[in-house]
Amino acid sequence: MNILVINAGSSSLKYQLLDPESGVLLAKGLCERIGIDGKFTYKAEGKKTLDAIDVPMPTHSEAIQAVLDALADKENGVIASMSEIGAVGHRVVHGGEAFNKSVLIDDAVLQAIEDCIPLAPLHNPANLTGIRACQKVMPGVPMVAVFDTAFHQTMPAKAYMYALPYAWYEEDKVRRYGFHGTSHKYVAGRAAVMLGKKPEEVKLISCHLGNGSSITAVDGGKSVDTSMGFTPLAGVPMGTRSGDLDAGILQYEMNKRGMGIDEMLNALNKKSGVEGLSCVSSDFRDLESAASKGDAKAALAREKFAYEVRKYVGAYAAAMGGADAVIFTAGVGENDKGIRSMVCQGLEYMGVKLDPAANDVRGKETVISAPDSKVKVLLIPTNEELMIAMDTAEIVK
Ligand code: ADP
Repeated sequence: MNILVINAGSSSLKYQLLDPESGVLLAKGLCERIGIDGKFTYKAEGKKTLDAIDVPMPTHSEAIQAVLDALADKENGVIASMSEIGAVGHRVVHGGEAFNKSVLIDDAVLQAIEDCIPLAPLHNPANLTGIRACQKVMPGVPMVAVFDTAFHQTMPAKAYMYALPYAWYEEDKVRRYGFHGTSHKYVAGRAAVMLGKKPEEVKLISCHLGNGSSITAVDGGKSVDTSMGFTPLAGVPMGTRSGDLDAGILQYEMNKRGMGIDEMLNALNKKSGVEGLSCVSSDFRDLESAASKGDAKAALAREKFAYEVRKYVGAYAAAMGGADAVIFTAGVGENDKGIRSMVCQGLEYMGVKLDPAANDVRGKETVISAPDSKVKVLLIPTNEELMIAMDTAEIVK
């Protein structure tokens, strides 16, 4: 059964058509500038690539229709008709406390996703628009919602509660939710396979290091703690996000610079992280190149990032009472051997021993620790779309 995976944003929509059983990707692409001038991209093995061609897309419905037309196109398509799409899996950012796993979408689910809008005001409305457009264009095809937050719903209260007035949790739902759940779940599953163990038997520390980064402690297949919090601003420093900080800085700098809270949050989300610290770039490739030419701030930003990731690795080993493996994934984790090496430095005391030769690799599922490393270090390219397709197939089966 083929699954169409949809990741809808407010004016864009990413799609992939996958066979979750074999893992084969049939086609993928992107609709951009929905509601503006409509650009459509389509890629499939052995077919003509469409690269940002003009397709009118006044709403997400026309965008989905364009996807279906391309997939089933006589010459350039990959399926004979829409009936070869068994179900649609939708990425939904926030499921609050309502969802601890992926679910078949019905009216009650749509309402619950809507109820989570205050928790993800930018993302959930766009995700809902994508679902409704699909329902309109593909009536009768089952739809599944896969949440970024769901995997973390297994965290115990001591991990998800903030030490804040209890009413903030009870009345306003302020707690740690965590994000990147689909990615952490996927790589944790692959890690168990690579270790030759059942998921229930292993303790893992999953480092999703990309533009946005989060670290998750996975004990027995369940997320027990994660570095992102109520929002994706928390945890380690990221491309442009500050990560954890002393809340006292907000008042001090707002007074000093006459900033309002919106301007402050904008600075923490968009002008901080390794970009803010380096004054160079949010992209780790640029930082590496600047650092190699002697830029001290770029070098410091990389060092700071790796140091904070390492601290989370240590913290989560402590939280779980040890770890069987540390996983690196996402853009930086999969590609930047220097960052991986800096993160693992000094972790020898807890049994982490990186193999420099094995670490000289990019984007490949492989073991990068030394043969005698007690804690394995794994490089696992993430595949959130495949995870969404696997969950979707499982639910509609
Ligand atoms: P997102 O959080 O947007 O999904 P990704 O996981 O795609 O981000 O990661 C994007 C980041 O990965 C880029 O900003 C860049 O810093 C980093 N990256 C990508 N390729 C490389 C590379 N070859 N070397 C170092 N860093 C890389």
